Amino acid sequence: MTNRSFLFFLPTKTFFGVGVTQGIGELCAQKRVMVVTTGLRRTGILNRIIREAGTPADLIVFDEIEPNPTCESVDKGGFLARVNEIEVIIALGGGSALDAAKGIACLRDEREELLDASSGIRSYLSGERAFTRRHTQLIAIPTTSGTGSEVTNVAVFSDPANRLKKSIVSPWFWNDYAYVDPELTLTVPDKHTAATGLDALVHAVESYWALSSTPFSEPIALEAIKLILDNLTQGYRNPEDRVARMNLSLGSLMAGIAFSQTRTTILHALSYPLTVDYHLEHGFACSVLLKPMLQTNAPLIPEKMARLLDYLGSPSLDALLERIEGLMQSINAPTRLSTVGVQEEELESIADQTMRSPITKLNPKSFTREELVDWLKEYR
Ligand code: NAD
Repeated sequence: MTNRSFLFFLPTKTFFGVGVTQGIGELCAQKRVMVVTTGLRRTGILNRIIREAGTPADLIVFDEIEPNPTCESVDKGGFLARVNEIEVIIALGGGSALDAAKGIACLRDEREELLDASSGIRSYLSGERAFTRRHTQLIAIPTTSGTGSEVTNVAVFSDPANRLKKSIVSPWFWNDYAYVDPELTLTVPDKHTAATGLDALVHAVESYWALSSTPFSEPIALEAIKLILDNLTQGYRNPEDRVARMNLSLGSLMAGIAFSQTRTTILHALSYPLTVDYHLEHGFACSVLLKPMLQTNAPLIPEKMARLLDYLGSPSLDALLERIEGLMQSINAPTRLSTVGVQEEELESIADQTMRSPITKLNPKSFTREELVDWLKEYR
């Protein structure tokens, strides 16, 4: 049953629409600015944002963030931000740039001592330390429609040497501003359109079915599910379709807002080992088991399912499952673990890692480790 006692908290001032990024000039005027980004130079997006930043006192670009940002690049960015006395960080890119910028801004402000291995992001990832402050302003400008990181207090970091991908939740990770312009997503390559769109869909679905869902999060999640289901195939097939891109950006933003209130559940917990060990794109890792998990959870939340089917105009659960299967096929997304190279003997380790994640407990179906191994065997 939906949780009737709840908090709704979203401190990020959020702008949505074509051209909204022009507003950043006011925030950057006479400030020492750092743009944290991935390889977006060739798209023209980086130049546009530098132009729109207007008249900063100084502007440096740190563009060494890789997909699934590593502890090393976040530490390096934190060091650069500190020695350059940065006052405003613009996070420009997909979730990788947005998450990295959260870590960089907090590391820049956290301590007087110089950053070293013992005070880098790894020590926060392990739980040894927790961030206690952030003065540097954070402006998020997403260029993919997927992670919702612009409106969450979550950031995900990778430590490949230790085969670890993990999230940190911190009150200092809420962005001060988010500027979501759907036009920035027009250049996203089709494979990333597919993966990021599915990431957003899974955010919305998991927020909707989460045991922590609230009367505020549910309607936002419902609309996000509809927007993404209705527009993802079109956005994938016709990348320059501005209506589809607009709806996918809105769906992703709404999904982000929904799960910022509830967190995600077991599909995201499962995605971490799949990304680290099988190098699956984050969105594919989250969605590969979406259909069977929906099938498993549905009988446990009959009222919610009835509202979902009604909202989507779907005659039955089977029709919805078929629609999801059709969508995933239309965008070449994997729907079985076996097709991405997962062997049966590896399922125990995947289950162990999944059971360690606290969000697993927010799933309607509660699994024991053994039940999860059996379930994974069935749907591999
Ligand atoms: P990404 O940021 O890794 O970007 C994927 C690729 O697309 C990169 O090569 C990037 O340069 C490129 N790209 C991005 N925008 C582009 C554009 N407009 N045109 C052309 N190329 C573009 O991908 P993502 O899926 O957005 O982010 C994934 C990361 O976000 C993962 O690390 C994941 O764990 C994390 N994540 C965070 C949250 C959160 O709440 N903080 C939620 C979900 C996922």
